[in-house]
Amino acid sequence: MSSLPTIDEALALVLARVRPLEAEEVPVREALQRVLAEPAVAVSDLPPFDSSAMDGYAVRAADTPGDVRVVGQSAAGAPSDRELGAGEAIGISTGAVVPAGADAVVPVERTHGELTVEHVDEGDNIRPRGGDIRAGETVIEAGAVLGPAQLGALAAAGVAQLRVARRPRVAVLPTGSELRPPGTQLGPGEIYESNSVLLAAQLAFAGAEVTVLEPVADEADATRAALARGLDADVLVTSGGVSVGPHDLVRELLAGLGATEVFWRVAVKPGKPIVFATREATLVFGLPGNPVSSLVGFELFVRPALRALQGARDAHPPFLPGFLASPLRRNAERDELVRARRDGDLLEPIVGQESHMIARTAAADALVLVPRGDGALDAGAQVRWLRI
Ligand code: AMP
Ligand code: MG
Repeated sequence: MSSLPTIDEALALVLARVRPLEAEEVPVREALQRVLAEPAVAVSDLPPFDSSAMDGYAVRAADTPGDVRVVGQSAAGAPSDRELGAGEAIGISTGAVVPAGADAVVPVERTHGELTVEHVDEGDNIRPRGGDIRAGETVIEAGAVLGPAQLGALAAAGVAQLRVARRPRVAVLPTGSELRPPGTQLGPGEIYESNSVLLAAQLAFAGAEVTVLEPVADEADATRAALARGLDADVLVTSGGVSVGPHDLVRELLAGLGATEVFWRVAVKPGKPIVFATREATLVFGLPGNPVSSLVGFELFVRPALRALQGARDAHPPFLPGFLASPLRRNAERDELVRARRDGDLLEPIVGQESHMIARTAAADALVLVPRGDGALDAGAQVRWLRI
């Protein structure tokens, strides 16, 4: 048992076998959650001109406080072409060009009558050209995962098209003779097939192009044929059939199809019997069938692999710091991922930690990492956790 790879060792074995996918060009609007393949550079200064931060009057600071004469208007998108002279003011709106000759803006709230302005210093309420970023500077580095703020920044800097890694194509194959789709009547010994729904959802969030294959019974020919199809993808994720029972066929069939097994079983709970194999550039993850094992195996190994395939700067699971609300016994041999509910920094383990208990898991929003070892972690102990 102690010879099983740890989570970190197993993940290193996975990441070492990732061959990054090629890049493609996409419109910025379609790049959410994609990974930038090369630095994205600002097309223009941002702001592109000295612009007003307030609605008010553009003036010369030296004329303030005092009375000024309004000689024009500069609205957003409609600059004034008049140069401002001594004792003059130009009405200006937020985001409008500061006219030549002006060096400050007096907010409208600090003006009186027709037109007395309060004191402003040079530069007040002016957003200088290029103050956010300058043309030619890098807005976002290669390897960044593009979220809403990143996409907004790129659009603001005039970037229309981006080079991003293409989406990984992922096939999902549920295995098990007991599986029936929700919406049908269960016969004796049958259960609803849920892992393909769970995994497809995780994969969609991870930016993959997902193909869910028809579930196969624990029967060699059908399983072999389905695995062969799945091996055409960049990543094949199977569920079930990787334990030591007589109906657990996945490992042997994968080997027969030319896949090289990299590891089988990891010192983790739940999800110990996970298999990882490769065939040429295809990565194969055989996740154990218990739904929580599938979920955990995905977060620990599959999602990082998808990020690495797309060239993400850091592919490792994004563990966050937190504190246990209640004590937890440690497992002597295996790191454990405990489902918990989060309240601020405090993590309360849910009741019902067995690996088939997906309904209980639905009430959790965190996977708490409990490192293997003796004894227990006390309430208040600092831990690391993953968002689910
Ligand atoms: P296995 O890994 O094939 O031994 O399956 C372990 C447990 O997970 C068994 O109770 C299976 O019935 C269950 N299971 C396997 N595949 C699925 C699936 N796709 N959806 C829901 N439960 C599953
Ligand atoms: Mg099975």
